[in-house]
Amino acid sequence: MSGPIKVLLGVLLGLVVGMACHQFWTPSAWQSVGVGDARAFMAGAVNPANADATLAAQGVRFVIRVNALIGDAFVRALRFIAVPLVLFSLIAGVASLGGVGGGAGGGRGGAGGLRALGRVGGRTLGLFAVTTVIAITLGLVLANVIAPGRAVSEATRAGLAEANASAVSERVAQAERAAADVSVWRLLLNVVPTNPFDSLARGDMLQVIVLAVLVGAALLLLISREQNKADAEGGSGGDDHAALPGLSAVTIARACEALGVVFITIGGWILRLAPIGVFCLMARTSADVGPEVVRGLAALCGVVVLGLAIHMLFVYGLLAVGVARLSVRRAALGLLPAQAVAFSSSSSAATLPVTIRCVRDNLGVRERVASFVCPLGATVNMDGTALYQAVCAIFIAQVYGIELSIGQQILIVLMTTLSSVGAPGIPGGGIVMFITVMQAVGLPMEGLAMILAVDRVLDMVRTVVNVTGDAVVAAVIDRWEPGDESMANAGR
Ligand code: ASP
Repeated sequence: MSGPIKVLLGVLLGLVVGMACHQFWTPSAWQSVGVGDARAFMAGAVNPANADATLAAQGVRFVIRVNALIGDAFVRALRFIAVPLVLFSLIAGVASLGGVGGGAGGGRGGAGGLRALGRVGGRTLGLFAVTTVIAITLGLVLANVIAPGRAVSEATRAGLAEANASAVSERVAQAERAAADVSVWRLLLNVVPTNPFDSLARGDMLQVIVLAVLVGAALLLLISREQNKADAEGGSGGDDHAALPGLSAVTIARACEALGVVFITIGGWILRLAPIGVFCLMARTSADVGPEVVRGLAALCGVVVLGLAIHMLFVYGLLAVGVARLSVRRAALGLLPAQAVAFSSSSSAATLPVTIRCVRDNLGVRERVASFVCPLGATVNMDGTALYQAVCAIFIAQVYGIELSIGQQILIVLMTTLSSVGAPGIPGGGIVMFITVMQAVGLPMEGLAMILAVDRVLDMVRTVVNVTGDAVVAAVIDRWEPGDESMANAGR
Protein backbone atom coordinates (compact mmCIF):
# COMPACT_ATOMS: atom_id res chain seq x y z
CA MET A 1 0.00 0.00 0.00
CA SER A 2 1.42 3.41 -0.93
CA GLY A 3 2.20 6.12 1.66
CA PRO A 4 -0.59 8.56 0.73
CA ILE A 5 -3.20 5.80 0.85
CA LYS A 6 -2.00 4.70 4.29
CA VAL A 7 -2.29 8.28 5.58
CA LEU A 8 -5.78 8.59 4.11
CA LEU A 9 -6.73 5.34 5.74
CA GLY A 10 -5.44 6.72 9.04
CA VAL A 11 -7.81 9.69 8.68
CA LEU A 12 -10.82 7.52 7.81
CA LEU A 13 -10.19 4.96 10.52
CA GLY A 14 -9.66 7.73 13.08
CA LEU A 15 -12.95 9.29 12.00
CA VAL A 16 -14.85 6.02 12.36
CA VAL A 17 -13.30 5.15 15.73
CA GLY A 18 -13.81 8.69 17.06
CA MET A 19 -17.45 8.81 15.94
CA ALA A 20 -18.09 5.39 17.48
CA CYS A 21 -16.58 6.54 20.78
CA HIS A 22 -18.67 9.72 20.67
CA GLN A 23 -21.80 7.67 20.06
CA PHE A 24 -21.27 4.91 22.58
CA TRP A 25 -18.99 6.31 25.27
CA THR A 26 -21.58 8.64 26.77
CA PRO A 27 -21.86 9.98 30.37
CA SER A 28 -23.91 6.90 31.26
CA ALA A 29 -21.09 4.66 29.99
CA TRP A 30 -18.71 6.54 32.30
CA GLN A 31 -21.18 6.06 35.14
CA SER A 32 -21.26 2.31 34.53
CA VAL A 33 -17.52 2.26 35.36
CA GLY A 34 -17.93 4.44 38.44
CA VAL A 35 -17.15 7.86 36.99
CA GLY A 36 -19.65 10.65 37.74
CA ASP A 37 -17.57 13.60 36.53
CA ALA A 38 -15.68 12.52 33.42
CA ARG A 39 -13.97 15.88 32.93
CA ALA A 40 -12.42 15.82 36.42
CA PHE A 41 -11.54 12.16 36.03
CA MET A 42 -9.72 12.78 32.75
CA ALA A 43 -7.89 15.76 34.27
CA GLY A 44 -6.84 13.58 37.21
CA ALA A 45 -8.57 15.96 39.66
CA VAL A 46 -10.01 14.64 42.91
CA ASN A 47 -13.79 14.55 42.89
CA PRO A 48 -16.00 12.48 45.22
CA ALA A 49 -18.23 11.72 42.22
CA ASN A 50 -15.40 9.56 40.88
CA ALA A 51 -14.58 7.74 44.11
CA ASP A 52 -15.88 4.44 42.71
CA ALA A 53 -13.92 4.54 39.45
CA THR A 54 -13.12 0.98 38.44
CA LEU A 55 -10.04 -0.53 36.82
CA ALA A 56 -11.90 -0.42 33.49
CA ALA A 57 -12.30 3.36 33.87
CA GLN A 58 -8.57 3.70 34.53
CA GLY A 59 -7.96 1.61 31.41
CA VAL A 60 -10.17 3.83 29.25
CA ARG A 61 -8.43 6.93 30.62
CA PHE A 62 -5.05 5.36 29.85
CA VAL A 63 -6.04 4.65 26.22
CA ILE A 64 -7.40 8.20 25.76
CA ARG A 65 -4.21 9.69 27.21
CA VAL A 66 -1.93 7.51 25.06
CA ASN A 67 -3.96 8.49 21.99
CA ALA A 68 -3.62 12.20 22.85
CA LEU A 69 0.09 11.76 23.56
CA ILE A 70 0.81 10.17 20.18
CA GLY A 71 -1.24 12.80 18.26
CA ASP A 72 0.38 15.73 20.09
CA ALA A 73 3.87 14.23 19.77
CA PHE A 74 3.35 13.88 16.01
CA VAL A 75 2.37 17.54 15.64
CA ARG A 76 5.24 18.66 17.88
CA ALA A 77 7.71 16.60 15.87
CA LEU A 78 6.53 18.28 12.67
CA ARG A 79 6.81 21.72 14.23
CA PHE A 80 10.26 20.83 15.53
CA ILE A 81 11.69 20.40 12.04
CA ALA A 82 9.78 23.27 10.38
CA VAL A 83 12.04 26.18 11.41
CA PRO A 84 15.47 24.59 10.70
CA LEU A 85 14.14 23.01 7.52
CA VAL A 86 12.91 26.34 6.16
CA LEU A 87 15.98 28.23 7.34
CA PHE A 88 18.61 25.96 5.81
CA SER A 89 16.78 24.98 2.63
CA LEU A 90 15.84 28.57 1.92
CA ILE A 91 19.37 29.93 2.51
CA ALA A 92 20.72 27.21 0.21
CA GLY A 93 17.93 27.82 -2.31
CA VAL A 94 18.51 31.57 -2.51
CA ALA A 95 22.30 31.16 -2.62
CA SER A 96 21.89 28.65 -5.45
CA LEU A 97 20.15 31.27 -7.62
CA GLY A 98 23.67 32.28 -8.68
CA GLY A 99 24.46 28.81 -9.91
CA VAL A 100 26.68 27.65 -7.04
CA GLY A 101 26.07 26.28 -3.57
CA GLY A 102 22.72 24.62 -3.89
CA GLY A 103 23.67 23.34 -7.30
CA ALA A 104 20.85 25.16 -9.13
CA GLY A 105 20.99 28.26 -11.24
CA GLY A 106 23.39 28.14 -14.09
CA GLY A 107 25.97 30.84 -13.42
CA ARG A 108 23.73 33.89 -13.35
CA GLY A 109 26.01 35.67 -10.91
CA GLY A 110 25.10 37.96 -7.97
CA ALA A 111 22.91 40.62 -9.62
CA GLY A 112 21.13 38.07 -11.85
CA GLY A 113 20.50 35.87 -8.81
CA LEU A 114 19.00 38.77 -6.87
CA ARG A 115 16.79 39.61 -9.82
CA ALA A 116 15.62 36.01 -9.92
CA LEU A 117 14.82 36.24 -6.21
CA GLY A 118 12.77 39.42 -6.73
CA ARG A 119 10.93 37.77 -9.61
CA VAL A 120 10.04 34.64 -7.62
CA GLY A 121 8.99 36.75 -4.62
CA GLY A 122 6.86 39.13 -6.67
CA ARG A 123 5.11 36.38 -8.62
CA THR A 124 4.46 34.36 -5.49
CA LEU A 125 2.89 37.23 -3.58
CA GLY A 126 0.91 38.27 -6.66
CA LEU A 127 -0.52 34.78 -7.12
CA PHE A 128 -1.32 34.49 -3.41
CA ALA A 129 -3.24 37.78 -3.60
CA VAL A 130 -5.17 36.78 -6.73
CA THR A 131 -6.27 33.37 -5.37
CA THR A 132 -7.27 34.94 -2.03
CA VAL A 133 -9.47 37.57 -3.66
CA ILE A 134 -11.08 34.89 -5.89
CA ALA A 135 -11.79 32.76 -2.79
CA ILE A 136 -13.39 35.68 -0.93
CA THR A 137 -15.48 36.70 -3.93
CA LEU A 138 -16.67 33.12 -4.35
CA GLY A 139 -17.61 32.99 -0.66
CA LEU A 140 -19.53 36.27 -0.90
CA VAL A 141 -21.43 35.22 -4.03
CA LEU A 142 -22.43 31.81 -2.61
CA ALA A 143 -23.46 33.24 0.75
CA ASN A 144 -25.56 35.96 -0.90
CA VAL A 145 -27.21 33.58 -3.36
CA ILE A 146 -27.87 30.59 -1.06
CA ALA A 147 -28.48 32.71 2.05
CA PRO A 148 -27.62 30.13 4.75
CA GLY A 149 -28.51 32.61 7.50
CA ARG A 150 -32.22 32.38 6.62
CA ALA A 151 -32.19 28.67 7.54
CA VAL A 152 -31.36 29.36 11.20
CA SER A 153 -34.34 29.21 13.54
CA GLU A 154 -34.74 31.60 16.45
CA ALA A 155 -34.49 28.63 18.85
CA THR A 156 -31.15 27.51 17.39
CA ARG A 157 -29.80 31.03 17.64
CA ALA A 158 -30.83 31.45 21.27
CA GLY A 159 -29.58 27.97 22.22
CA LEU A 160 -26.17 28.54 20.68
CA ALA A 161 -25.84 32.01 22.19
CA GLU A 162 -26.39 30.54 25.64
CA ALA A 163 -24.19 27.49 25.14
CA ASN A 164 -21.21 29.41 23.77
CA ALA A 165 -21.41 32.62 25.83
CA SER A 166 -18.18 32.05 27.75
CA ALA A 167 -16.28 30.87 24.65
CA VAL A 168 -17.35 34.05 22.88
CA SER A 169 -16.04 36.37 25.61
CA GLU A 170 -12.78 34.41 25.72
CA ARG A 171 -12.26 34.79 21.96
CA VAL A 172 -13.24 38.47 22.03
CA ALA A 173 -10.62 39.10 24.74
CA GLN A 174 -8.05 37.24 22.62
CA ALA A 175 -9.01 39.32 19.60
CA GLU A 176 -8.68 42.54 21.56
CA ARG A 177 -5.16 41.54 22.52
CA ALA A 178 -4.38 40.72 18.89
CA ALA A 179 -6.14 43.79 17.49
CA ALA A 180 -3.01 45.93 17.68
CA ASP A 181 -1.29 43.44 15.38
CA VAL A 182 -3.92 43.49 12.70
CA SER A 183 -3.34 46.86 11.10
CA VAL A 184 -1.53 46.80 7.75
CA TRP A 185 1.28 48.91 9.23
CA ARG A 186 1.76 46.53 12.11
CA LEU A 187 1.76 43.53 9.76
CA LEU A 188 4.40 45.20 7.59
CA LEU A 189 6.51 46.21 10.57
CA ASN A 190 6.40 42.69 12.01
CA VAL A 191 8.10 41.38 8.90
CA VAL A 192 11.35 43.05 10.02
CA PRO A 193 13.10 40.97 12.68
CA THR A 194 14.79 42.82 15.53
CA ASN A 195 16.78 39.80 16.65
CA PRO A 196 17.18 36.87 14.25
CA PHE A 197 17.75 34.40 17.07
CA ASP A 198 14.55 35.52 18.74
CA SER A 199 12.65 35.02 15.45
CA LEU A 200 14.06 31.49 15.20
CA ALA A 201 13.30 30.69 18.82
CA ARG A 202 9.72 31.93 18.52
CA GLY A 203 9.28 30.19 15.17
CA ASP A 204 7.99 33.42 13.57
CA MET A 205 7.93 32.05 10.03
CA LEU A 206 7.71 35.37 8.21
CA GLN A 207 10.75 36.69 10.05
CA VAL A 208 12.59 33.40 9.53
CA ILE A 209 11.92 33.75 5.79
CA VAL A 210 13.28 37.32 5.83
CA LEU A 211 16.36 36.12 7.71
CA ALA A 212 16.97 33.22 5.33
CA VAL A 213 16.47 35.34 2.22
CA LEU A 214 18.89 38.01 3.51
CA VAL A 215 21.56 35.46 4.46
CA GLY A 216 21.05 33.62 1.15
CA ALA A 217 21.25 36.88 -0.82
CA ALA A 218 24.45 37.91 0.99
CA LEU A 219 25.96 34.49 0.24
CA LEU A 220 24.88 34.85 -3.37
CA LEU A 221 26.78 38.12 -3.67
CA LEU A 222 29.86 36.81 -1.87
CA ILE A 223 29.91 33.69 -4.02
CA SER A 224 29.84 35.77 -7.19
CA ARG A 225 32.68 37.96 -5.84
CA GLU A 226 34.70 34.87 -5.01
CA GLN A 227 34.12 33.58 -8.51
CA ASN A 228 35.07 36.88 -10.14
CA LYS A 229 38.25 36.99 -8.08
CA ALA A 230 39.07 33.43 -8.97
CA ASP A 231 38.45 34.14 -12.65
CA ALA A 232 40.64 37.28 -12.53
CA GLU A 233 43.44 35.31 -10.92
CA GLY A 234 42.91 32.50 -13.38
CA GLY A 235 42.48 30.04 -10.53
CA SER A 236 39.83 27.45 -9.99
CA GLY A 237 37.91 29.45 -7.38
CA GLY A 238 36.44 28.03 -4.20
CA ASP A 239 38.20 27.76 -0.89
CA ASP A 240 41.62 29.07 -2.01
CA HIS A 241 40.15 32.51 -2.61
CA ALA A 242 38.01 32.87 0.49
CA ALA A 243 38.34 35.70 2.97
CA LEU A 244 39.06 33.06 5.61
CA PRO A 245 41.25 30.21 4.40
CA GLY A 246 39.12 27.08 3.97
CA LEU A 247 35.84 28.83 4.67
CA SER A 248 34.28 30.39 1.60
CA ALA A 249 30.73 31.54 0.96
CA VAL A 250 30.35 28.49 -1.26
CA THR A 251 31.27 26.24 1.67
CA ILE A 252 28.67 27.92 3.89
CA ALA A 253 25.98 27.63 1.19
CA ARG A 254 26.81 23.95 0.73
CA ALA A 255 26.76 23.40 4.49
CA CYS A 256 23.28 24.96 4.63
CA GLU A 257 22.17 22.73 1.80
CA ALA A 258 23.49 19.67 3.62
CA LEU A 259 21.79 20.74 6.86
CA GLY A 260 18.53 21.20 4.93
CA VAL A 261 18.89 17.63 3.67
CA VAL A 262 19.51 16.44 7.25
CA PHE A 263 16.18 17.92 8.38
CA ILE A 264 14.40 16.60 5.30
CA THR A 265 15.67 13.14 6.24
CA ILE A 266 14.37 13.55 9.79
CA GLY A 267 11.09 14.72 8.26
CA GLY A 268 10.97 11.47 6.29
CA TRP A 269 11.18 9.49 9.52
CA ILE A 270 8.41 11.54 11.11
CA LEU A 271 6.28 11.02 8.02
CA ARG A 272 6.51 7.28 8.37
CA LEU A 273 4.51 7.75 11.54
CA ALA A 274 1.92 9.90 9.74
CA PRO A 275 -0.76 7.17 9.39
CA ILE A 276 -0.67 6.59 13.18
CA GLY A 277 -0.35 10.31 13.98
CA VAL A 278 -3.33 11.34 11.87
CA PHE A 279 -5.37 8.41 13.19
CA CYS A 280 -4.85 9.60 16.78
CA LEU A 281 -5.59 13.25 15.95
CA MET A 282 -8.73 12.34 14.00
CA ALA A 283 -10.02 9.94 16.63
CA ARG A 284 -9.69 12.58 19.34
CA THR A 285 -11.31 15.41 17.38
CA SER A 286 -14.24 13.37 16.10
CA ALA A 287 -14.84 11.81 19.53
CA ASP A 288 -14.91 15.31 21.06
CA VAL A 289 -17.01 17.00 18.42
CA GLY A 290 -19.40 14.34 17.11
CA PRO A 291 -21.75 14.77 14.15
CA GLU A 292 -24.54 16.67 15.90
CA VAL A 293 -22.71 20.04 16.02
CA VAL A 294 -23.50 20.43 12.36
CA ARG A 295 -27.24 20.10 12.92
CA GLY A 296 -28.99 23.48 12.96
CA LEU A 297 -26.09 25.04 11.09
CA ALA A 298 -26.05 22.54 8.23
CA ALA A 299 -26.76 25.29 5.70
CA LEU A 300 -23.73 27.32 6.80
CA CYS A 301 -21.49 24.22 6.74
CA GLY A 302 -22.88 23.27 3.34
CA VAL A 303 -22.13 26.68 1.80
CA VAL A 304 -18.60 26.78 3.25
CA VAL A 305 -17.81 23.25 2.06
CA LEU A 306 -19.35 23.92 -1.35
CA GLY A 307 -17.27 27.10 -1.75
CA LEU A 308 -14.09 25.35 -0.65
CA ALA A 309 -14.77 22.46 -3.03
CA ILE A 310 -15.38 24.80 -5.98
CA HIS A 311 -12.20 26.73 -5.16
CA MET A 312 -10.18 23.51 -4.92
CA LEU A 313 -11.57 21.97 -8.07
CA PHE A 314 -11.78 24.94 -10.39
CA VAL A 315 -9.20 27.50 -9.22
CA TYR A 316 -6.51 25.10 -7.97
CA GLY A 317 -7.42 22.45 -10.54
CA LEU A 318 -7.02 24.98 -13.35
CA LEU A 319 -3.75 26.30 -11.97
CA ALA A 320 -2.32 22.83 -11.33
CA VAL A 321 -3.35 21.17 -14.57
CA GLY A 322 -3.70 24.14 -16.91
CA VAL A 323 -0.79 26.33 -15.79
CA ALA A 324 1.64 24.11 -13.87
CA ARG A 325 0.95 21.29 -16.37
CA LEU A 326 0.66 18.59 -13.76
CA SER A 327 -1.19 15.46 -14.78
CA VAL A 328 -4.62 15.15 -13.15
CA ARG A 329 -3.49 12.01 -11.31
CA ARG A 330 -0.35 13.68 -9.97
CA ALA A 331 -2.23 16.79 -8.90
CA ALA A 332 -4.94 14.74 -7.19
CA LEU A 333 -2.76 12.17 -5.44
CA GLY A 334 0.51 14.02 -4.92
CA LEU A 335 -0.77 16.18 -2.09
CA LEU A 336 -2.79 13.56 -0.25
CA PRO A 337 -0.34 13.14 2.67
CA ALA A 338 -0.18 16.91 3.25
CA GLN A 339 -3.96 17.21 2.95
CA ALA A 340 -4.51 14.35 5.40
CA VAL A 341 -2.15 15.91 7.96
CA ALA A 342 -3.76 19.34 7.43
CA PHE A 343 -7.23 17.85 7.93
CA SER A 344 -6.37 16.01 11.11
CA SER A 345 -4.11 18.67 12.67
CA SER A 346 -6.00 21.81 11.49
CA SER A 347 -2.65 23.54 11.28
CA SER A 348 -0.86 24.69 8.14
CA ALA A 349 2.22 25.52 10.22
CA ALA A 350 2.47 21.97 11.56
CA THR A 351 1.79 20.54 8.10
CA LEU A 352 4.57 22.62 6.49
CA PRO A 353 7.33 19.95 6.46
CA VAL A 354 4.87 17.50 4.83
CA THR A 355 3.77 20.13 2.32
CA ILE A 356 7.36 20.86 1.29
CA ARG A 357 8.07 17.16 0.92
CA CYS A 358 4.96 16.47 -1.19
CA VAL A 359 5.54 19.50 -3.39
CA ARG A 360 9.16 18.52 -3.98
CA ASP A 361 8.88 14.74 -4.26
CA ASN A 362 5.41 14.27 -5.71
CA LEU A 363 4.84 17.41 -7.78
CA GLY A 364 8.50 17.65 -8.84
CA VAL A 365 8.93 21.29 -7.77
CA ARG A 366 12.52 22.43 -7.36
CA GLU A 367 13.85 22.59 -3.83
CA ARG A 368 14.58 26.31 -3.89
CA VAL A 369 11.05 27.14 -5.09
CA ALA A 370 9.38 24.75 -2.64
CA SER A 371 11.34 26.02 0.35
CA PHE A 372 10.50 29.61 -0.53
CA VAL A 373 6.85 29.42 -1.56
CA CYS A 374 5.51 26.86 0.96
CA PRO A 375 6.70 28.52 4.20
CA LEU A 376 5.61 31.92 2.91
CA GLY A 377 2.24 30.45 1.95
CA ALA A 378 1.77 28.70 5.31
CA THR A 379 2.16 32.12 6.92
CA VAL A 380 0.35 34.54 4.63
CA ASN A 381 -1.75 32.57 2.13
CA MET A 382 -4.98 31.18 3.54
CA ASP A 383 -7.64 31.02 0.86
CA GLY A 384 -9.76 28.54 2.84
CA THR A 385 -9.76 30.81 5.88
CA ALA A 386 -10.56 33.86 3.75
CA LEU A 387 -13.51 32.16 2.01
CA TYR A 388 -14.82 30.86 5.33
CA GLN A 389 -14.69 34.29 6.92
CA ALA A 390 -16.48 35.91 3.98
CA VAL A 391 -19.32 33.35 4.20
CA CYS A 392 -19.52 33.72 8.00
CA ALA A 393 -19.76 37.52 7.80
CA ILE A 394 -22.71 37.37 5.40
CA PHE A 395 -24.26 34.52 7.41
CA ILE A 396 -24.23 36.52 10.65
CA ALA A 397 -25.67 39.55 8.88
CA GLN A 398 -28.49 37.39 7.48
CA VAL A 399 -29.29 35.80 10.85
CA TYR A 400 -29.61 39.23 12.46
CA GLY A 401 -31.46 40.71 9.48
CA ILE A 402 -28.71 43.25 8.70
CA GLU A 403 -28.61 44.47 5.10
CA LEU A 404 -25.01 44.84 3.98
CA SER A 405 -24.35 47.49 1.36
CA ILE A 406 -21.92 46.94 -1.53
CA GLY A 407 -19.47 49.21 0.31
CA GLN A 408 -19.66 46.98 3.39
CA GLN A 409 -19.16 43.88 1.23
CA ILE A 410 -16.04 45.47 -0.30
CA LEU A 411 -14.89 46.18 3.24
CA ILE A 412 -15.36 42.46 3.95
CA VAL A 413 -13.08 41.63 0.99
CA LEU A 414 -10.38 43.96 2.31
CA MET A 415 -10.68 42.90 5.93
CA THR A 416 -10.84 39.16 5.28
CA THR A 417 -7.77 39.42 3.01
CA LEU A 418 -5.89 41.16 5.78
CA SER A 419 -7.21 38.84 8.43
CA SER A 420 -6.26 35.71 6.47
CA VAL A 421 -2.74 37.11 6.02
CA GLY A 422 -2.47 37.84 9.73
CA ALA A 423 -4.07 34.60 10.94
CA PRO A 424 -1.56 32.15 12.41
CA GLY A 425 -1.51 28.67 10.87
CA ILE A 426 -2.74 26.99 14.00
CA PRO A 427 -6.09 25.40 14.97
CA GLY A 428 -8.65 28.17 15.36
CA GLY A 429 -6.17 30.82 14.19
CA GLY A 430 -8.74 32.25 11.78
CA ILE A 431 -11.60 32.73 14.20
CA VAL A 432 -9.77 35.20 16.44
CA MET A 433 -8.87 37.30 13.41
CA PHE A 434 -12.46 37.05 12.20
CA ILE A 435 -13.56 39.11 15.20
CA THR A 436 -11.67 42.08 13.75
CA VAL A 437 -13.63 41.64 10.51
CA MET A 438 -16.89 41.62 12.50
CA GLN A 439 -15.87 44.77 14.35
CA ALA A 440 -14.93 46.58 11.14
CA VAL A 441 -18.21 45.70 9.41
CA GLY A 442 -20.26 46.33 12.56
CA LEU A 443 -21.68 42.82 13.05
CA PRO A 444 -23.08 41.84 16.49
CA MET A 445 -20.55 39.92 18.58
CA GLU A 446 -23.23 37.40 19.71
CA GLY A 447 -23.13 36.10 16.13
CA LEU A 448 -19.81 34.53 17.00
CA ALA A 449 -21.59 32.01 19.22
CA MET A 450 -23.08 30.34 16.15
CA ILE A 451 -19.82 30.25 14.25
CA LEU A 452 -17.94 28.81 17.22
CA ALA A 453 -20.28 25.83 17.29
CA VAL A 454 -19.02 24.59 13.93
CA ASP A 455 -15.61 26.24 13.80
CA ARG A 456 -13.67 23.13 14.82
CA VAL A 457 -15.14 21.01 12.03
CA LEU A 458 -14.80 23.68 9.35
CA ASP A 459 -11.25 24.43 10.49
CA MET A 460 -10.22 20.97 9.30
CA VAL A 461 -11.65 21.51 5.84
CA ARG A 462 -10.35 25.07 5.36
CA THR A 463 -6.85 24.07 6.48
CA VAL A 464 -6.79 21.46 3.67
CA VAL A 465 -7.59 24.27 1.22
CA ASN A 466 -4.96 26.58 2.76
CA VAL A 467 -2.26 23.93 2.37
CA THR A 468 -3.35 22.92 -1.14
CA GLY A 469 -3.22 26.58 -2.22
CA ASP A 470 0.41 26.92 -1.10
CA ALA A 471 1.37 23.73 -2.93
CA VAL A 472 -0.38 24.66 -6.17
CA VAL A 473 1.16 28.15 -6.21
CA ALA A 474 4.59 26.52 -5.67
CA ALA A 475 3.98 24.28 -8.71
CA VAL A 476 2.93 27.26 -10.84
CA ILE A 477 5.91 29.41 -9.80
CA ASP A 478 8.21 26.48 -10.55
CA ARG A 479 6.68 26.16 -13.98
CA TRP A 480 7.26 29.85 -14.68
CA GLU A 481 10.88 29.74 -13.57
CA PRO A 482 13.51 29.19 -16.25
CA GLY A 483 14.36 25.49 -16.19
CA ASP A 484 17.74 24.12 -15.29
CA GLU A 485 17.45 21.13 -13.02
CA SER A 486 14.00 20.70 -14.44
CA MET A 487 12.89 17.51 -12.92
CA ALA A 488 9.96 19.83 -12.39
CA ASN A 489 9.36 20.32 -16.05
CA ALA A 490 9.92 16.76 -17.10
CA GLY A 491 7.57 13.86 -16.79
CA ARG A 492 4.76 15.66 -15.07
N1 ASP B 1 -6.30 26.38 11.02
C1 ASP B 1 -6.03 27.21 9.88
C2 ASP B 1 -4.65 26.91 9.34
O1 ASP B 1 -3.79 26.51 10.08
C3 ASP B 1 -6.18 28.65 10.19
C4 ASP B 1 -7.64 28.97 10.49
O2 ASP B 1 -8.37 29.28 9.57
O3 ASP B 1 -8.05 28.87 11.65
O4 ASP B 1 -4.39 27.09 8.18
